[in-house]
Amino acid sequence: MADHIRHVGLLGYPVGHSLSPAMQNAAFQAVGLAWEYVLLSVAPPSLQEAVLALRENGFAGANVTIPHKQAVLPFLHELSDEAEAIGAVNTLVIEGERLLGYNTDAYGFRQALVEAEFTPTSNHAVLLGAGGASRAVLYALLSQGVSVTLVNRTADKAFALARHFRPFFAETIEVVRYEEIEALQNVLNTADLLVNTTSLGMAPHHDTSPLASTLRLGAHLTVYDLVYTPRDTQLLQQARTAGAKTIDGMGMLLHQGTEAFRLWTHREAPVAVMRTALESAIISGKAVPPV
Ligand code: NAP
Repeated sequence: MADHIRHVGLLGYPVGHSLSPAMQNAAFQAVGLAWEYVLLSVAPPSLQEAVLALRENGFAGANVTIPHKQAVLPFLHELSDEAEAIGAVNTLVIEGERLLGYNTDAYGFRQALVEAEFTPTSNHAVLLGAGGASRAVLYALLSQGVSVTLVNRTADKAFALARHFRPFFAETIEVVRYEEIEALQNVLNTADLLVNTTSLGMAPHHDTSPLASTLRLGAHLTVYDLVYTPRDTQLLQQARTAGAKTIDGMGMLLHQGTEAFRLWTHREAPVAVMRTALESAIISGKAVPPV
């Protein structure tokens, strides 16, 4: 690595399918920064060593992805309020000796809702999934006064998530079991937002939907799918057929990145440049994970 170049990286395992280098390197170039975003494939046992090596090698920071978003917490000096509440970090900022942890996924989720001009009617969302992405989305919704119904194949994970957040929010968090189709239909009839945070529908399994075929969507709903490969998932197609509004996963991906860029560089992100870079990377199929 050349000395005059400042680096940020992505700590994950695997990282080969990431779109962040395309998006962040386009941004650095657009604002005239001699910075480079590099992929750092780090197996779980090497995480602490890798985090310390970032500091020793003068990195400005990093993104953190699967499987390290929670495992990285013990190695950090300070967490932002959001990262602390969510219990996971996706962005590290290195300030001198100090390692600071942020979570920009919640910001990305909210920003995509704003861009889609989503107007809540019932302030009640249905959230499919209880994995890593679900934590940030649940926090983003609850902190905006939205009550949430959680549905996950492994119900215990949904119950655990509900227990984690209940002490901090007055909003209702209820869990409906995956197989309770009628109960889920009743909630879908009155909620205004359905969010898919499961990986169902993601390439190469793009012919799957997280929603049972017997469930009906309505035109009152906005359906937001976090999956971005493909952008037009089977769930979003089902939603359009039912007359619902749709939001794909690209906006969240873009804006978790614009916020990380701002945290690292203290400059406003060149949003249009980053959006174009992401769109071309998605079209070129760069994000399709290895089968
Ligand atoms: P994760 O932690 O592995 O969670 C996966 C979730 O999908 C779990 O709730 C899991 O249920 C569920 N799931 C997986 N296979 C399933 C199946 N066959 N049937 C039913 N449920 C199934 O993954 P993650 O990090 O949360 O990511 C989830 C998705 O969100 C991925 O597609 C990822 O690309 C996307 N994402 C997008 C953004 C964005 O910026 N747009 C950001 C983060 C993530 P169990 O608990 O029962 O296993």
